[in-house]
Amino acid sequence: MKKHSFAVGSWLCAAIVALALACQTDVYPPIDESKHIIAVDPPDPKVVVFVIDGPRYSDSFGDSLHVHVDEIWNQLRPLGTLCSNFRNLGWTLTIPGHATMLTGVWQYLNNDGLERPQEPTLFEYYRQAKGAPAADAVLVGGKSKLAACAYSNHPAYGAAFGALVDVDNVSDFETYDAVITRLQSDHPHLMMASFSQVDQKGHSGVWADYVDQIEIVDSLAVLTWNYLQSDPVYAGQTYLFITADHGRHDDQHGGFQNHGDACAGCQHVIFLALGPDIRVDYDVTTLYTQRDVCTTVGELLDIATPYADGFTMEEIFEPVSTGVGD
Ligand SMILES: [Zn+2]
Ligand SMILES: [Zn+2]
Repeated sequence: MKKHSFAVGSWLCAAIVALALACQTDVYPPIDESKHIIAVDPPDPKVVVFVIDGPRYSDSFGDSLHVHVDEIWNQLRPLGTLCSNFRNLGWTLTIPGHATMLTGVWQYLNNDGLERPQEPTLFEYYRQAKGAPAADAVLVGGKSKLAACAYSNHPAYGAAFGALVDVDNVSDFETYDAVITRLQSDHPHLMMASFSQVDQKGHSGVWADYVDQIEIVDSLAVLTWNYLQSDPVYAGQTYLFITADHGRHDDQHGGFQNHGDACAGCQHVIFLALGPDIRVDYDVTTLYTQRDVCTTVGELLDIATPYADGFTMEEIFEPVSTGVGD
């Protein structure tokens, strides 16, 4: 009898464990580490993070007709992996959003660029680990305040390891020109490029100007990818992440003109990954957040990101059998 009870107890235990494991597919992040590791790295990997400042998900990737992002949608999305449940769960503002992606830590920073993060940025991790010059880790952007994201106040990192900064209050065309010039001249391994005018046109409150600007950046994203494929230093070994710092209010919370709270419109952010071992024509619906950008880029560039709290976005990569559990 005792033995039987024990057996039932064991069975119950096993059932509970099985149930817990089954439930894990809904917890964050559900990773089966035994079956998914990052595929063989390209010999000299490089990463460009293409940030569109403040497009609302429902006006871009979340629009069933994709009217304003038809070039990304039809030309780039089939080449890579979409994360359709990607979120800014911190402050849905420009400096916090950019700084969170770069540090892997939710950054509650002054949005005028008056504060730097306390935790190291990807630029600092990369330059310190590789002994790389500033021109190898570049921050390009259309708002001068973005310079606050070039390096942290962390005592072991800081200005000596910061990004080469090429930011000014300029149009998205000028930002694009700066991106291509930097890529051509210095071939950085790491670039964050931020296109600011969608946000500015959104704040103006003129719907037609706002969506026209999304269409312009849509084209610039495709041109950037095409440039990377045309340059032998980048072709075949470069990852492009197309994402945003925040969305904008959904219509129940004030509409497209502004942003900054925790409504779904502000938190839901576009994310598309392209690159050598990124899954093709794939959609990941797992919740990932901006913190995961730092960790994932660190993994791609083979550098440690010890202060980051994010997770590697394993599911965007082609699964590779480890021979365990198959
Ligand atoms: Zn912004
Ligand atoms: Zn909102």
